[in-house]
Amino acid sequence: MENQLHIYNTLSGEKEVFKPIVEKHVGMYVCGPTVYSDVHLGNCRTFISFDMIYRYLLHSGYKVRYVRNITDAGHLENDADEGEDKIAQKARLEKLEPMEIVQKYTVGFREVMRLFNTLPPSIEPTATGHIIEQIEITKNILEKGLAYVSNGSVYFDVEKFNVNGDYGMLSGRKTDELISGTRDLDGQSEKRNPLDFALWKKASPSHIMHWPSPWSIGFPGWHLECTAMSTKYLGDQFDIHGGGMDLKFPHHECEIAQGKSATGKAPVNYWLHANMLTLNGKKMSKSTGNTLLPEELFSGNNNLLSKAFHPMVVRFFMMQAHYRSILDFSSEALVASEKGFIKLMTALADLNAIKPAASSSENADSMIGSFYEAMNDDFNTPVLIANMFEAVTYINKIKDGNATISAPDLDKLRSALHAFVFDVLGLREAKEGNDSKLEAVMQVILEIRKKARDEKDWATSDLLRDRLSEAGIQIKDSKEGVTYTVQ
Ligand code: AMP
Ligand code: ZN
Repeated sequence: MENQLHIYNTLSGEKEVFKPIVEKHVGMYVCGPTVYSDVHLGNCRTFISFDMIYRYLLHSGYKVRYVRNITDAGHLENDADEGEDKIAQKARLEKLEPMEIVQKYTVGFREVMRLFNTLPPSIEPTATGHIIEQIEITKNILEKGLAYVSNGSVYFDVEKFNVNGDYGMLSGRKTDELISGTRDLDGQSEKRNPLDFALWKKASPSHIMHWPSPWSIGFPGWHLECTAMSTKYLGDQFDIHGGGMDLKFPHHECEIAQGKSATGKAPVNYWLHANMLTLNGKKMSKSTGNTLLPEELFSGNNNLLSKAFHPMVVRFFMMQAHYRSILDFSSEALVASEKGFIKLMTALADLNAIKPAASSSENADSMIGSFYEAMNDDFNTPVLIANMFEAVTYINKIKDGNATISAPDLDKLRSALHAFVFDVLGLREAKEGNDSKLEAVMQVILEIRKKARDEKDWATSDLLRDRLSEAGIQIKDSKEGVTYTVQ
């Protein structure tokens, strides 16, 4: 493959050469989390995938505006047009204000993203901060005759849009097949056609998150927020839109229809979809309870895990799969990733001690070229990692005196490996308490905890564990003794 970035575009179903609208600049929007519960490892995979993409674009010299929203209103149960708002529902159950729920889980999400070493987006807008923009787009689509008001709600008219449009173009679905697949749920009587979707919903008296609008006191539809926030910050047409595979339909299909109706232009040039993390072969999903939380991995507190894993090992595990492939989680796979991660990090450290020779016994330039080839081929991180392990083998041979490297090649290889490991894959050292002062302090604390436990003073032992956990240090008791991990 020639050395240009190629990206798989869901829209065409092909890998295409990446050409941004404005040379050297990229506008990228990624659907963010709905902040009504802790993010699970599946959600994290999607955000880590796009972090890697963002990082590679930056590494390639693009100036990137990366917008990732926070969904803090409008996302209803079952991703439907009817039912309770996910955040309002959680607020009711926990007897908190909706904005307390939003704050709690936004803070938690950002902390998890920090532990996984993801870069913050350039802009992180919220749906509730863009109600006016959503009302304006709704008015615009109504004026174009592609939406209608029904009982205080506004619905997008899929059939009218289809006179000139092509609803289904992203997901490859045909509208007649879609119609036969829909059930006539309560409330759909407000719609002219079961495929129509809400731009604005009139709030029922129990719906506590609502705003005034020309049509009713209500709230915006979930699909509209992403159209409002992406186009506000990136323009009517922008380069990349990403999200998990499960958002392709209806969420992204609806975004295309809304954008085209409002501006007459297709909003996005490259649609990218990250594949799912599965557990026991099934999609990790909050609603089915088939989930694993990041902190369970970091502490090892889950029966599925043989031990605790550092966030960087988990990130490396994810990078070993292509972002468009399904990745199945297992403790054994993570143990294998940990070995690979340590081997890679050890080789990087060894590079510093290598003495250059007069010439190189292997071709460093072609090794480095292979890193770029892998990433330019639709961000192929598993191939990148395999190619980096060729370099690791070379480094180990040099260390053992079975190969040589010249000084300029040593410099080039070191800086390329550093760039790809740290800047592109977003890995960093996983310090497992090998800082000697911390280690000494931890041994004192673990001794006090052991004494407390011997005396059945559970209050002190729990207090120590909880306080350490708040400080990012997780204690794990196992057959082998007490261990700890530092995040
Ligand atoms: P949500 O908070 O439900 O809106 O989801 C946030 C993001 O996580 C979306 O891009 C989803 O597509 C993605 N997502 C949800 N479940 C998984 C999973 N099992 N694996 C990968 N991504 C997921
Ligand atoms: Zn979205």
